[in-house]
Amino acid sequence: MHHNIYIEEQGLRDGLQTVSHIFSTEQKLIWTRDLIEAGVKRIQIGSFVHKGKIPAMADTDDLFLRSTHEQQQVLISGLALNKKGLERAIHCGAKYLSISLSASETHSLKNTGKTIEQAKEEIKEMIVLAKEKNIKVRSGIQCAFGCRFEGKISENVVLDLAEYLISCGADELSLADSTGMAHPVQVDRMIKQVISIAGNIPIGLHLHNTENKGYANLYAGLNAGVTIIDTAFGGLGGCPFIKGATGNIATEDVVHMLDQMGVDTGIDMYKIAKISLEIEKVLGYPLPGLMYKMIQNKTIALI
Ligand SMILES: [Zn+2]
Repeated sequence: MHHNIYIEEQGLRDGLQTVSHIFSTEQKLIWTRDLIEAGVKRIQIGSFVHKGKIPAMADTDDLFLRSTHEQQQVLISGLALNKKGLERAIHCGAKYLSISLSASETHSLKNTGKTIEQAKEEIKEMIVLAKEKNIKVRSGIQCAFGCRFEGKISENVVLDLAEYLISCGADELSLADSTGMAHPVQVDRMIKQVISIAGNIPIGLHLHNTENKGYANLYAGLNAGVTIIDTAFGGLGGCPFIKGATGNIATEDVVHMLDQMGVDTGIDMYKIAKISLEIEKVLGYPLPGLMYKMIQNKTIALI
């Protein structure tokens, strides 16, 4: 297991895109600063999707324009799913982007209206253009471990996509269990194969805890050589286009677990828990994460 593990906090994107409450740009900026203060080094703050499609992400351009100071402090990223989104990101001066496609034909069609082949063509142009603009690209494969519409996803399809994205010039590669269907043996097998293709390119893992296997998958991924882990405060998250897709693994829970395992993330889980609690108060219902509740209740001594 690597000891330099980076946590990419995606609560502001994957988390907030799934809740009905729309938080203000000002509030998102405050949380961005709180996350930096908590020691988070990578933050995904939004998604350049069609503004009408996901209203909670409509202020992504504004967020980028207003976070130039924060972008000098830590890695601030956004998600772009098509050329139009990339053009907006370039216009906002984004320095780091997540550009992804799906390994499931049905999910690809529902999410972007494109077949995998069409998505591959577009993503190549996007990566080339982004690199021309000196934007670092993390390329992701959604539904890499299964799809609610199609069931099993062929591992060869995922490995071919990984190879393709690297050939397009991706700086980092990420496998996403968008639907929370992965299991640890599968994660171990897939990550090892992807690493053998990717060489020195850092590999990330994006996990949802839909079937309660998220943290077991995290452990499998870390042992297999993953160095970037996506999490969301309070375990918020899900895909608006996948029914029943629930939260990401929770940042504070992951930080606590890694801390006990001797992996220093540099993140203060108490400060993350404070954000989760603030969001819980506004939403009026508990978030899936567990550590922020334990910290709040102060019922159990933590070691
Ligand atoms: Zn996700």
